[in-house]
Order: sequence, then structure tokens, then C-alpha cells
Amino acid sequence: MPLIAVKNITKTYPDGTKALRDISLNIESGEFLGIMGPSGSGKSTLLHILGSLDIQTTGTYRFDGKEINSYSEAEIAQIRNKRMGFIFQMFNLLPRATVLENVMLPLVYAGVDEPLRTQKALEAIKSVGLIHRKDHDSLLLSGGEKQRVAIARAIANDPDVIFADEPTGNLDSASGKVVMDILKKINEEKKNRTVILITHEKRTAQYTDRIVQIVDGIIDSDILNGKK
Ligand code: ADP
Ligand code: MG
Repeated sequence: MPLIAVKNITKTYPDGTKALRDISLNIESGEFLGIMGPSGSGKSTLLHILGSLDIQTTGTYRFDGKEINSYSEAEIAQIRNKRMGFIFQMFNLLPRATVLENVMLPLVYAGVDEPLRTQKALEAIKSVGLIHRKDHDSLLLSGGEKQRVAIARAIANDPDVIFADEPTGNLDSASGKVVMDILKKINEEKKNRTVILITHEKRTAQYTDRIVQIVDGIIDSDILNGKK
């Protein structure tokens, strides 16, 4: 059974924009999937739906075998907090907070108490190589370091699936490579850890196992990346 199964999904925004026209896609647990496509093709819209941050207009979305619309708001929030991690292009870190505070935040939302909360956060910070920065103000870090904090935050609660929307979009190529090497490691070190990555850069997509190409809200191609 796939972790994620979407069938004939469409998304029409209130202003009438048809961002997704017909998307059907299965994603297996443990996959490293890349979603590519031109600007405006619907990548972020799809990611928001998969991450339960938005809902489709028509079509079905099953997460772990169950129709996501059949969960209550509170249950969806639980799934989002405990089973999903998010990484965005603009890092979305909490200002005036240290690295450790940022990484602990999702654990607070998920109801993880001390001392486990600090322990998990420190482990995540270690795994992105930033332990020496744990008490630094997050906003004073370089772009690459900020994105590594965001990755640590996304993995702190050991989610099943990590969604990354153009995580290297604001980074120079060297920092981008460091970030992608970490995402690759995160996907490989646990068998069931799924990573879904949006990018429009070929060199970034090369890290993935499978590439889905979206054009004008439909899937144009879906190919194995032939590297595993
Ligand atoms: P991508 O991430 O591939 O650049 P998006 O999913 O962000 O594409 O956008 C797909 C289409 O939907 C675009 O035409 C965009 O302008 C439009 N769109 C995105 N968000 C909204 C919104 N909140 N309201 C109306 N239109 C939107
Ligand atoms: Mg986008």
C-alpha cells in the first residue's frame, strides 16, 4: 500500500485559477521523489495538498490507506505534527530564536515533553552538522546554515515524510549541495523515510530516485531516475 495515493485531484482557487487539472500519483514509503516543472505549473499547490496544508477541490487523497478528508481537523493536525516535516525555500525560521529553540518548536506542538524534547532536538541539530551553532540566533546564520536548521526542525520528530519546496532555491550552489547531501542522507538512513522534493533545477533533481514532471497542472512524465 502506498504511503500517499492521490487520484484525479484538481485544485481551483477561489479566484478561478485552475492550478491542478488532474493529478493521480502513488508515492511509496521510503521513496525520494522529485517534483519538477516550470514556475506556475502547480508544484507548490500539489505539495500543500500532500502536506495537508490545503485541500483539493475534487479527487481523493489517501494517506497511509485512509482518505484524509475523513479525519477530523484535530486528527489531521496530529498527522501533520507527528508524521510530516516541512522545508521551504525561505527557511521560515522563527525570528529572535536560537537554533535549538527553532528545532524544538514542532516537538512542542507535538506534545513531546522535556527532557526528551531537548534530546531529540539536539540529535537533529547534530545530524545536520550544526551543534556548534545551537545557541546562535537563527537569523544571524548564513543561508545554507538556516536551511540546515530548517531540515533539523523538519526531522526532529522523526516524521515519515518530509516535504521540501525548492529548498535550494535561495542558496548558492555549494550550500545547495550541502543541503541536498543532507536530504539524501536523511532519506537513506531510515528505510521508511520518504522525501518529496520540489525543484526546477536539474542538478538538484539528480539526487532523487524518481522524477514527476508537472506542466499546467497535469503530470507530463513520471520516470525513475535510475540511480539506486
Ligand atoms: P509552482 O509552485 O509550480 O510555481 P503554484 O502551485 O504556486 O505553482 O501555482 C500554480 C498556479 O496557481 C499559478 O498560476 C499561481 O499563480 C496560482 N496560485 C497559487 N496560489 C494561489 C492562490 N492562493 N490563489 C490564486 N491562485 C494561486
Ligand atoms: Mg512553487
